[in-house]
Amino acid sequence: MPPSTPGSDTARRAAVYCWPSSPSRSAGPGTARDRRAALDVQLALAYEQAAVLGLAVAGDQVFTDSRPPAGPTGSERATPGWRSLLASVRRREVRRLLLPQAEQLERHACAFAELLELATEYDLRLYGHPRDVNDPEVREELLERAERTARSAREASARARRAHRRAAAEGRTHGGGLRRFGYTTGMTALIEEEAEVVREVFARFLAGDSLRALAVDLNARQIATAYGNRWTVSGVGRLLEAPRYAGLRVLDGTIVRAPDGSYVTADWPPCVSVADWEAAQQLRDERARARAANRRPRREYPLTSLLRCTRCERHMVGSTIGGYPTYACTSSSSLDAEHCSRHIAAESLEAHVAERAIALLEAQSVPVLDGVPVGPAARFGWSRLSPGRRAAVFRHFFASIRISASSTSRSVFDPSRIELLPRRHPTG
Ligand SMILES: [Zn+2]
Repeated sequence: MPPSTPGSDTARRAAVYCWPSSPSRSAGPGTARDRRAALDVQLALAYEQAAVLGLAVAGDQVFTDSRPPAGPTGSERATPGWRSLLASVRRREVRRLLLPQAEQLERHACAFAELLELATEYDLRLYGHPRDVNDPEVREELLERAERTARSAREASARARRAHRRAAAEGRTHGGGLRRFGYTTGMTALIEEEAEVVREVFARFLAGDSLRALAVDLNARQIATAYGNRWTVSGVGRLLEAPRYAGLRVLDGTIVRAPDGSYVTADWPPCVSVADWEAAQQLRDERARARAANRRPRREYPLTSLLRCTRCERHMVGSTIGGYPTYACTSSSSLDAEHCSRHIAAESLEAHVAERAIALLEAQSVPVLDGVPVGPAARFGWSRLSPGRRAAVFRHFFASIRISASSTSRSVFDPSRIELLPRRHPTG
């Protein structure tokens, strides 16, 4: 009997969340039986994806709903499956979560944003999105996008409501169901002790405090966000960016201005002056520019020498396409071959291959490459390897990685396209 490795089984356990998404767009709401069948399809997909990612679906952590978690504005009541998932995350029972519909979830922007915030706070690893949601920069970008989506959806529905109720509610805002820090729901009144915190955050930021220092300090003082969560770096950043704190209205993501260019003030009381808010935006921009200037310019593509397109038998080369790191078949640049547009998202592909490499390293008892930990230390060791060493591990285990045509819609990561051919090592 091989020695059992306690911990490794539990470490790979993952929760799953899904709902029945109908594959055909023309299909109507459908019967309960249709929805049940569609949910079964999603669950089967989830188990397949989990196997590919080297995850074991935790039988007691499969969360489902009969519809997606909530609309984009978050004003609807959360669905029961989603509620119990979030409760389990907060109890730290869920450490890894597979979302086979992660991309669709983005459309339910409030739910998605809340999940990303929780993931940061509770160190939850997320799987199923074509991009690496566990990369802090990617996460921040997706979070900002979700906030924008939610904001414009909220503004659109608030506009519709205002039109209907103009007579009754002249000049009054009808905010969505979410309460904003510093204000009561609907932005009708200040909550003075929170407004005081908002003023303090602006003042300290303008005095030079970092977002991180502010988040750490608020949490140390046990000041919770409007949702009752701990503050994150991006949460403090979004507070500083929100025009509402200067009493400014936002419509479709831009600040509302009068025809002469001046601000149109909202009907809720501001927390800070427009001048302080503008100064904070300028400082945010300056810091972002400084960060961008220090960022390393080029991304590494460790799989380039191994990938082949099964159609053209050519290498697939890494580059940024439409803003996304991508491996693409090189015959697109050749004149003789028929144009081949085969490509695959780099983040998900690399994560997939890395999981296989880590599993292989974990199975080793003697070192295979200098400085590359094996056995139980493999996963932690992997996180500390340079891109060059990771590429060496890939070349050690795999002779070639063959990418076939995508059978699903372009935006969905389809691991069945990937065939890993092992490198044969002389034995004995
Ligand atoms: Zn090709």
